[in-house]
Amino acid sequence: MHNNAFAKLGLNFAYLAFEITNDTLPAAVQSIRTLDMRGSNISMPNKQKILPLLDKLDPVAKMVGAVNTVVNDNGVLTGYTTDGTGFMKALADENLDIRGEKMTIAGAGGAGTAIEIQAAYDGVKEMSIFNIHDQTWENAERNVKIINEQTDCKAQLFDLADQDAFKREIADSAIYCDSTGVGMKPLEGKSLVNDPSFFHKDMIVFDTVYAPRTTKLMEVAQEAGVEHVFNGLGMMLEQGAEAFKLWTGKEMPVDYIRDLLF
Ligand code: NAD
Repeated sequence: MHNNAFAKLGLNFAYLAFEITNDTLPAAVQSIRTLDMRGSNISMPNKQKILPLLDKLDPVAKMVGAVNTVVNDNGVLTGYTTDGTGFMKALADENLDIRGEKMTIAGAGGAGTAIEIQAAYDGVKEMSIFNIHDQTWENAERNVKIINEQTDCKAQLFDLADQDAFKREIADSAIYCDSTGVGMKPLEGKSLVNDPSFFHKDMIVFDTVYAPRTTKLMEVAQEAGVEHVFNGLGMMLEQGAEAFKLWTGKEMPVDYIRDLLF
């Protein structure tokens, strides 16, 4: 994505991949300074571990507690998270604006947290988060606390096992987002919502999964006649475009990249 965009705009940058573990992370971050790299993306398992190694954090990255993009300004390293902005931008690309609206979202892992915090930060009015009682439950509790304390959004956490609440909250929302990965391998063909009557036609249904292109959740939403149904490709493209802009100061030619690669 990045190398094609650099070439298209004639920018003298190169995007390379390095395999970095938690153990080699400090040396890798130091090498950003030593080699005077413009920046970096950060993937798992380093998105949280990198926080204390950076000089500055963007406010949303601080609230999310994770970084996926680093910018090096003359040796000062700043951490950002672009997954949430990528989600919001993917909606904006479709002329959809959820600010002032209610959102129901399933999942509070890496993607879910970035989406929840960014959406609340950007002005979503009310948020109902559903999670199972696994290792991310505490994270969901943390997200609700941070959103309620640090934004104007009113957030609430529900157990996904409470299907009556799940149906009620979705019915009352302008958008339902699934950030659980249910619907991709090894859970391809599965969905947390299987009953089309959970949805109403004028809402948005957004699945963060991008392989397969059409998930079971999206099929259920389409069966319900939902107008705006999306997979995670737009979010993936726009999180990259946000990082591209942070490094280069230029807009990624997203239509060109979408046609070329997606
Ligand atoms: P994660 O492991 O950090 O979090 C997974 C979340 O899903 C947790 O809240 C967990 O409780 C929940 N979950 C897992 N299995 C479940 C089940 N069977 N039923 C109900 N809930 C369940 O994962 P992640 O990194 O947040 O990724 C989640 C999904 O988002 C993946 O499909 C990933 O591909 C996608 N993703 C997309 C983008 C994008 O740009 N489109 C970016 C990041 C992640």
